[in-house]
Amino acid sequence: MKAVVFTAPGEPVEVTDVDLDPPGPGEVKVKIAAAGVCHSDLHVRRGEWPVPVPLVMGHEGAGVITQVGPGVTGLAEGDHVVLSWVAPCGQCRYCRAGREARCQVAATVVAAGGVLSDGTSRLSLRGRRISHYLGVSSFAEYAVVPASGAIKVRDDAPLDVIALVGCAVATGVGAVMNTAAVEPGSVVAVIGCGGVGLSAVQGARLAGAARIVAIDVRTEKTALALALGATDEIDASAADPVIAVQDLLPGGVDYAFDAIGLISTTEQAIRMLAPGGAAVIVGLPPAGAKASFEPLLLAEADQRILGSNYGSVRPAVDIPALVDRFMGGDLRLHELISARAPLESAAAALDELEAGHALRTLLIP
Ligand SMILES: [Zn+2]
Ligand SMILES: [Zn+2]
Repeated sequence: MKAVVFTAPGEPVEVTDVDLDPPGPGEVKVKIAAAGVCHSDLHVRRGEWPVPVPLVMGHEGAGVITQVGPGVTGLAEGDHVVLSWVAPCGQCRYCRAGREARCQVAATVVAAGGVLSDGTSRLSLRGRRISHYLGVSSFAEYAVVPASGAIKVRDDAPLDVIALVGCAVATGVGAVMNTAAVEPGSVVAVIGCGGVGLSAVQGARLAGAARIVAIDVRTEKTALALALGATDEIDASAADPVIAVQDLLPGGVDYAFDAIGLISTTEQAIRMLAPGGAAVIVGLPPAGAKASFEPLLLAEADQRILGSNYGSVRPAVDIPALVDRFMGGDLRLHELISARAPLESAAAALDELEAGHALRTLLIP
């Protein structure tokens, strides 16, 4: 099959022929209908995160099951699925406690090892084993994934839209609804209005936030945030967002979501909090980056800093529910898609994201 292979930082991302083994026990094969290009893919290409290479890129996508491995129950050929980059093992203490986004097997075996849950890869390039990315590798014509990472959804939902639910939307909406559990009437700020940030804005709207302040250096992105439910916008290229928030909402905000993950934006999120507020780190920085804050002020003001991994989702519960919200009109996804392009455009789509003007590009194999 054709797939997008990343070998090393500085090397071109190339579309090439890759061999994919059939699904093993507990696995399924999915024909990819659409795969979203996410900032995490950019971190990989820049070499900012340690990942086993070479790998087939992509961790967001949706498609149709074409083959079911031995022992799989609850999924069948023809099922429409959204791919989850956490395939819960169901056995570890986090999975048993319902905190599946923290699954230990997903983190320590799959993500760290570049393999599927059983510790091996189904991918090879010219006879040599190569890695999966986050157990998904969706920038390809097909993917073999653990069955628990293929989330069955209603088949009337357009796959080339709901692919986004697997990362951007689950991450952004989940950070608001699950990690922070924003209460109705809250005052919320979202820093960064890309795919994840615009999903957080919509999550805040769904949670009943009274004020939702969208912050970005690009006014076309804050304008879109207003259309999706934000009540106020701040142009971070024109003013210090912390001062601008204080001018707009004296005292600060109850929740500040950093959907970018720069040191500066994380520190801004902490500094714009009202007493009792929580800063939620959603966007991810390069490995090893350090932010600072003043512990005395945090303690005196009874504030919190929360990390949000994959929106603290339970994939099998939250992903179908988000698809239902889209189909019911509560959640708007078309607006998050800036382009659809073939696999051959993966490198160009990453360049666009790097330049900051793209929202989500969907690769259509
Ligand atoms: Zn992602
Ligand atoms: Zn687990």
